[in-house]
Amino acid sequence: MSRFWSPFVKQLVPYVPGEQPKLANLVKLNTNENPYGPSPRALAAMQAELGDNLRLYPDPNSERLKQAVAAYYGVTAAQVFVGNGSDEVLAHAFHGLFQHGRPLLFPDISYSFYPVYCGLYGIPFEAIALDEQFQIRVEDYQRVNGGIVFPNPNAPTGCLLALEAIERLLQLNPHSVVLVDEAYIDFGGTSAISLVERYPNLLVTQTLSKSRSLAGLRVGLAVGHPDLIEALERIKNSFNSYPLDRMAIAGAAAAFEDEAYFQQTCQQVIASREAVVSGLQQLGFEVLPSAANFIFARHPQHDAAQLAAGLRERSIIVRHFQQARIAQFLRISIGSAAQNQALLAALGQIV
Ligand SMILES: *Cc1c(COP(=O)(O)O)cnc(C)c1O
Repeated sequence: MSRFWSPFVKQLVPYVPGEQPKLANLVKLNTNENPYGPSPRALAAMQAELGDNLRLYPDPNSERLKQAVAAYYGVTAAQVFVGNGSDEVLAHAFHGLFQHGRPLLFPDISYSFYPVYCGLYGIPFEAIALDEQFQIRVEDYQRVNGGIVFPNPNAPTGCLLALEAIERLLQLNPHSVVLVDEAYIDFGGTSAISLVERYPNLLVTQTLSKSRSLAGLRVGLAVGHPDLIEALERIKNSFNSYPLDRMAIAGAAAAFEDEAYFQQTCQQVIASREAVVSGLQQLGFEVLPSAANFIFARHPQHDAAQLAAGLRERSIIVRHFQQARIAQFLRISIGSAAQNQALLAALGQIV
């Protein structure tokens, strides 16, 4: 704390990201990164940008990337917003669409950045309890609110909410923005982007960090009605005109254009997930149904914090949340075949 800080800074409670250890040879299954590399076409597109052009500012509107996303989802570029990671896109959405004085609603177990943005932008919120199976009950969101946000599949549970339920939620809340955070949708769900044409209150965010293996590039996007997108553009253009650099625009656009590589790597992650789930079940774990590139599991006879510590002693890191209702769960990212085997072997020793 410093006397130079604005009073506002003193009461902020920042987000704590999953650890990025400097040690080599760790089996790193704690932040849901993709075990496969980015598309070779994306890498080539980024390399082509490495040159004299870097003297020049990038396109402030990232038009090439918006066009690629629009073509991929069959929408117009005016329905697309892009930003420096979907965390930045989410921040702009909170800032631009959720400050109405009424509480923002999100599940009690969900992405822990949401309450942080509420603190940053002075947005009141209510955490709505998931049911006993850790599922979202859309009827519980039928109350006064200034907006609704949830990840789908949910994080850190991995559970998917069906598109019909999302549509019911939109119909129950025609006067609120409903933001569906689809960071993990490509690993087993159907995107709600198909609904934006019919629901002007729907905003869908996605990231290239998970299914497109570009966490290090920092690119995220939102798709929705042009009026919602314009709010995000107004915030962005009042904050930083160039959130995406030249390499990010070129690499992200090329990643969207390399459909074959994307499909192949997603399918590999999904197949590995099913193998990890059955391996864990054989060791006595209970695993929540996952549509993501991670699983959420607990062992009825073993304390989760001790399991995480035992794994760490064996150079494997997973995520453990010291939080009500989920303190006995571990969130484990799906890794390469070798990493997954190392995980199951280590857990086999521990339990
Ligand atoms: C990873 C993640 C994000 C952030 O993604 P970035 O694009 O890397 O900022 C957003 N929401 C959820 C639920 C995530 O898990």
